[in-house]
Amino acid sequence: GGEEADDEELERRRRISAYKGVWVFIEQNDGEAAKVSWELTGVGRELADKLGVPLSAVIIGSGIQPLADLAFSYGADQAYLINDPVFRQYRTEPFLEAMCYLIGKHKPEVVLMGATGMGRDLAGAVATRVKTGLTADCTGLGIDEKGNLMQTRPAFGGNIMATIMCDRFRPQMATVRPHVMPMPAQRAGATGILIKESCPVSEASIFTRVLEVITEKGGKEKVDVAGAEFIVSGGRGLMAKENFAMLEELADELGGVVGGSRSAVDAGWLPQDRQVGQTGKTVRPKIYIACGISGAIQHLVGMQDSDVIIAINRDAEAPIFEVATFGIVGDLFEVIPALTAGIRNV
Ligand code: FAD
Repeated sequence: GGEEADDEELERRRRISAYKGVWVFIEQNDGEAAKVSWELTGVGRELADKLGVPLSAVIIGSGIQPLADLAFSYGADQAYLINDPVFRQYRTEPFLEAMCYLIGKHKPEVVLMGATGMGRDLAGAVATRVKTGLTADCTGLGIDEKGNLMQTRPAFGGNIMATIMCDRFRPQMATVRPHVMPMPAQRAGATGILIKESCPVSEASIFTRVLEVITEKGGKEKVDVAGAEFIVSGGRGLMAKENFAMLEELADELGGVVGGSRSAVDAGWLPQDRQVGQTGKTVRPKIYIACGISGAIQHLVGMQDSDVIIAINRDAEAPIFEVATFGIVGDLFEVIPALTAGIRNV
């Protein structure tokens, strides 16, 4: 049997080596790309350089050709473009057909998508159809010495970081949440190769119709924690819902928003969409102010890449101080009003 196994192994390696290149799926809505797509183009560029292969952007939609130039400016060497009215709005079935068609034809070794509503839906469907693995919500991506993709993500409730490999199948697929990877610099005037493709999908073969698009209502109710540049976050140390008014005041002074730990959300002090952390949002603001938050690992994974972290906690041993740029050991009920007053008087 040894020889047979070797033959099988050789055959597997031959099959895998036919897959070349790094792809980033450019998620867009009405021709406007999701920022996470460019964040992935940045990390995709690094992976492609390590492998010595081209980086391709995959753009599927209707009237989306301008996105190819944007993709080149963010580092893509080439763009596969499928431009057809059938892809005007995202639906799983036609996008699944198109992605699988392109993968079958061009055989990429790595396919990256944003861990957004769309990316999560599409990546799972594609991985299943092309019979490969998928690592969701990666926080780190790299290449090992054999040229395989190392996909790192928190596991066991955030207690360990696991590096996951998919060395027996291709493509290697991963999703990454928005704000986890830094936004790459734009290169003015960069050009690339535009590859126009078509994948005939007839409307009649699609079971889903989009009848109406209802945009979530804006206003004060709707706060985008993930996109904010300044975040004031509160935890169990706030003691009561009323006390979040104090954080709102500080956030208003900074032009920022209020977020919180899971404890604060579980206590009903904040809506769920304000939660920062592993089961909440990943944020990367310029300044993150953590008030009365102990710094559990599940909270840290959501905010530790912020540019500046200011922690206010009365316990000098609180783990939040390990990631803090500036730490204030003290009672938040004294420190926060003083901070707000100080900023107001600047
Ligand atoms: P605590 O840990 O209770 O900390 C309160 C802090 O406030 C303490 O450090 C205390 O010293 C300080 N304090 C109290 N009073 C004052 C005062 N007057 N002045 C100054 N400081 C004061 N957590 C998240 O945040 N986000 C997640 O997405 C998330 N996902 C999770 C997923 C899983 C699978 C699991 C198991 C847990 C998850 N958690 C998450 C929960 C996490 O483990 C912690 O329980 C939680 O983050 C603790 O919240 P906290 O820091 O507000 O509360």
